[in-house]
Amino acid sequence: MLSKASWRIVAGDSGLWAAMLRKKTGWNIKKLLQALLPEVVKQISSIYVDVEGNRPDTCIWGPTSNGVFSVKTAYELSARFNEVPGSPWKLIWNLKIPPRVKMFTWLLTQKKILTNVQRVRRHLSRDPSCPRCHYHEESLQHLFISCPRVLALWRSFYLPKGLINFFSSDFDSWLKENLCYNAGHIRNLKWSSIFAVACWFIWKWRYRSIFEPHFQMPCRPNQIIVEYHLEWDKANNLLKKATSRTQMFLAWQPPPCGFFKLNIDGSRLGLRQLTVNSDYALVVDMINGDWVDSHPMSVLLTKCTELLKNQWNCSILHVYRETNSAADFLAKMGHHKDLGYHELSSPHDQLQPFLDDDKNGLLRPRFVPV
Ligand SMILES: [Zn+2]
Repeated sequence: MLSKASWRIVAGDSGLWAAMLRKKTGWNIKKLLQALLPEVVKQISSIYVDVEGNRPDTCIWGPTSNGVFSVKTAYELSARFNEVPGSPWKLIWNLKIPPRVKMFTWLLTQKKILTNVQRVRRHLSRDPSCPRCHYHEESLQHLFISCPRVLALWRSFYLPKGLINFFSSDFDSWLKENLCYNAGHIRNLKWSSIFAVACWFIWKWRYRSIFEPHFQMPCRPNQIIVEYHLEWDKANNLLKKATSRTQMFLAWQPPPCGFFKLNIDGSRLGLRQLTVNSDYALVVDMINGDWVDSHPMSVLLTKCTELLKNQWNCSILHVYRETNSAADFLAKMGHHKDLGYHELSSPHDQLQPFLDDDKNGLLRPRFVPV
């Protein structure tokens, strides 16, 4: 029954799909509004339909912005489908720690760390005992919480007062509670991230103590953990600040003599020499040819390219918002207007000051990368 109804929606000239498209103008907004919420109609109408063109239907990859398939987005998509409610991934992802520590923490939450108990379970060894204290089985609980060798390490951090069950929790609750504990602890570092880095060091040192005969545990392990974390933090912040900026003063510029200037996308018959300015760099790049056939907007971009090939002298340039303020104002005003075409016979009251400023060459400051 449902499939029959769906088929009727999409098939044939009398189908709902056909009724929603008009021959020359694309979407039938009136019809769409009868059936759907305005927000949905807004989204649908933003998809340009080539009702006159002869382009065949093609498959495009939705999760990328240019429609080209990428393994990264496919992986992200599959991860989203497989995401278990309450998954700790987001929690770990938001920690400001090195990527390798993030991966290790993830393995820890999934209990994929090969402790000796795990190795025995997988028939890789016959000895489940802890290689450091030799008194107990090396489970995750023992390795990270109760082994005498780690007790001292955790105590040296002066554990946050909120974590009263630190040494008595079961492994799952212990991990979750500590990864969620975001209060600042030492030298502006959050406890959750110090904790994750400390777990990674515990595992690293355990590994070295087995495979490196002369390895000695550091005298002040807590200090090494904090220093490592701070050093990574510092390098990470330096990378972020690498782009320095300088302040510029910008104003709307009139077009060269004999040219008209259009500060929003649009056109008027009779103009042959035109400079189009937009503060949306991505759109400017795309209209100037930086796009691929699989892009979801390729039909519209083809149409724009065809229009530009007409007898125009037209250049499309990116400008900063400070020099495009009137267009910026109109674009924002458009958010509060109904769908469809709107013509202003005179400037809006609040638009006039922007036009006056542009006319008078008012300079506006902006920090730009150098
Ligand atoms: Zn032990």
